[in-house]
Amino acid sequence: MIETQGPFWLQQALEREQPAPATALAADIEADICIVGGGYTGLWSAIRLKQAEPALNIVVLERELCGSGASGRNGGCLLTWSTKYPSLRRRFGSREAARLVRASEQAVLDIRDFCEQHNIDAELRIDGACYTATNDAQCGVMAPLVARLERESLNSWSALSEAELQTRTGSEAHLEGHFSPFAGSVQPALLVRGLRRVALTLGIQIFEHSPMTALHRGKPSRIDTADGSVTAGKVILALNAWTPSLFREFDRHLVLVSSDMAITRPVPAELRRLGLDHGAAVVDGRTFVHYYRTTPDGRLMLGKGGNLFAFGNRVIEAFDQPSRYRPMLKAALQRFFPDLKTEIAATWTGPSDRSASGLPFFGRLEGDGDIYYGMGYSGNGVVQSLLGARILTSLVLGRDDDWARCGLARGPQERFPPEPVRWLGAMTVRNAIRRKENAEDRGETPFIWDRWLARFADAAGKADKG
Ligand SMILES: Cc1cc2nc3c(=O)[nH]c(=O)nc-3n(C[C@H](O)[C@H](O)[C@H](O)COP(=O)(O)OP(=O)(O)OC[C@H]3O[C@@H](n4cnc5c(N)ncnc54)[C@H](O)[C@@H]3O)c2cc1C
Repeated sequence: MIETQGPFWLQQALEREQPAPATALAADIEADICIVGGGYTGLWSAIRLKQAEPALNIVVLERELCGSGASGRNGGCLLTWSTKYPSLRRRFGSREAARLVRASEQAVLDIRDFCEQHNIDAELRIDGACYTATNDAQCGVMAPLVARLERESLNSWSALSEAELQTRTGSEAHLEGHFSPFAGSVQPALLVRGLRRVALTLGIQIFEHSPMTALHRGKPSRIDTADGSVTAGKVILALNAWTPSLFREFDRHLVLVSSDMAITRPVPAELRRLGLDHGAAVVDGRTFVHYYRTTPDGRLMLGKGGNLFAFGNRVIEAFDQPSRYRPMLKAALQRFFPDLKTEIAATWTGPSDRSASGLPFFGRLEGDGDIYYGMGYSGNGVVQSLLGARILTSLVLGRDDDWARCGLARGPQERFPPEPVRWLGAMTVRNAIRRKENAEDRGETPFIWDRWLARFADAAGKADKG
């Protein structure tokens, strides 16, 4: 079978929708706010700003099509920050950490409500998530977190019995698991294309095939494209993985790493047989997790983070091609579902913007101009980008509220080493994690050196898909 080219979800979304045609910028125009990047962060920000102040003239500039970046090609797992609570608490204190966890849970429901209100059929299913262990070394890892969340009256996770674990995951590969109802899955590209439609309806101007070629900082600032420019009082850079190559000041704050995905042909009867007739996300206990979910038309999608690291944070071509880790994805599918009768219909990949803390950060660029930014979702951005848009909206409108004062709005706080140390370090840690986790799968004790190296990645928090 011939694999489709390009990210599967975006192709599917473009085939299904009758989009307002993409327009490229071909004039010198003015705006109150120019947002660069047409993914979730850019579009949610545009929509929230417009809803807050309908008179604002807002322009979005997108390099290719809205959804060409991570937002149109991710796993579509709607997950919250509850598993990041310890990391949030360490950095921002218990009150703010609790607020962010609760806001992320509410955001799952807010995205559902927004889709309903605006007739976005993004195949969104709030059917929960299972975090599991697939070998003895992963067992017990969730328990201290759940106990902690319980003490803070924040816990949405419950331990699954053996029978429940089997029903919810459809696989005998899991040894233990916890379930939270504040999660689910979505067809990610249908969501981002739906946001585009709503933004256009609200009167936001969107120019696609219009990459920013230069940013002239000032009051106002000017953004150049090949055939035009936008002069705007305020600018939001919602460029995700593309940020460090365009703004070197962010180079030490991100590492670009692939998440690799495979999706099967539709086999609805097979999935029903396994009990997988729901949209829950299943995430295992590896450092760079395996994660899977089904689609309403009976496909199974499986992803695995932490494979291809980009030297110098360049968005290389390999990020826009079928996954070079297809054999690894196929082996994982076989391990989880040895009896599943289907084939892989497509593989793809994409760059995740992993920050040193495993958390996104937002802020205002130093120097001239009112220029704001947000990035670093670290593989957890489908739900979190709505919260990112709340932060950016408050910053841009100069509000003095919880979102403008949020700990995540203080810019990047932690950094990676410079190249070539960063890339060499990333490869060393990645390979150590692979050896360690393979040994654990075999029930063997990993080398002490590999265990020590793996702790460098664990420091940023588990359950990241990048
Ligand atoms: C393969 C993969 C799987 C993932 N799986 C999950 C998951 O299951 N669950 C989850 O929560 N998160 C997941 N994530 C993370 C999530 O997809 C992202 O955090 C989220 O989409 C970020 O949205 P964004 O708008 O900030 O970035 P993007 O969607 O990447 O948007 C940035 C946009 O900027 C545009 N751009 C770049 N350069 C320019 C320029 N010069 N001028 C104009 N525009 C430009 C790009 O084309 C792009 O559209 C995954 C990420 C990847 C890559």
